[in-house]
Amino acid sequence: MRKTVVAGNWKLNNTIAESIELVTLLKRELSDVEGVEIVVCPAFTALVEVGEVLLESNIKLGAQDLFWEARGAFTGEVSGALLRDAGCAYVIIGHSERRQYFHESDEDVHKKTKAALEAGLTPIVCCGETLDERMSEKTQAVLTRQLEGAFKGFSSAEVLRCVIAYEPVWAIGTGKVATPREAEEGHLFIRGLLGKAHNSTVGSETVILYGGSVRPENAHELLRKPDVDGFLVGGASLDAEAFVQIVRASVEVKV
Ligand code: PEP
Repeated sequence: MRKTVVAGNWKLNNTIAESIELVTLLKRELSDVEGVEIVVCPAFTALVEVGEVLLESNIKLGAQDLFWEARGAFTGEVSGALLRDAGCAYVIIGHSERRQYFHESDEDVHKKTKAALEAGLTPIVCCGETLDERMSEKTQAVLTRQLEGAFKGFSSAEVLRCVIAYEPVWAIGTGKVATPREAEEGHLFIRGLLGKAHNSTVGSETVILYGGSVRPENAHELLRKPDVDGFLVGGASLDAEAFVQIVRASVEVKV
């Protein structure tokens, strides 16, 4: 049975005080939720304080990135072990913004995913095609390249410990959400890919989230697709009421 996961990616937003305010509201409003894994991913600077608010709650802490080396002379970087030390259970890896603005390669995503698993974190591995790639019918080739790259040499057990986020780049932060059919097609394709690379259990049991302009208004119809296991939410996760509604939609449809 796959888990339903709703993760909020706060990106480069919120001071420590604003982060505490937001997470305190979420903790209060979502305290009764069972059966959905709720994750919030604040900026590095707010991780510890947000983690303290979340102690003994049903909301998990995640980071937005990590570096693959465990320690050493890597100015500005943060390792998986340090994220665990700060209270993280999850880490987002290979978000399209990191691929686009910081030139992260599939090899980087692979090394980060491996490091996350070694540190005992659950990686949320992002993949997705740009509009140009979709228009030129390269979506499947892109997803294949990204995921084969990310999971190169991984055992089935390692892949099963990862969460995948299918995030069409053209839908991120644009208000242009994928139709439920487009999302389902992407998820099904990914399941097929994992099935071929490993076995049918990996294909059917890996948790795959959709991301890209998810809002309370479109959450239900996306969640009704059988291969959509939840969401990675950007913009709407900064609005407590919207995020709460998206989590509640997940409970209504999936639990
Ligand atoms: C994201 O950044 O992962 C994302 C899905 O953003 P948004 O929900 O704002 O499109």
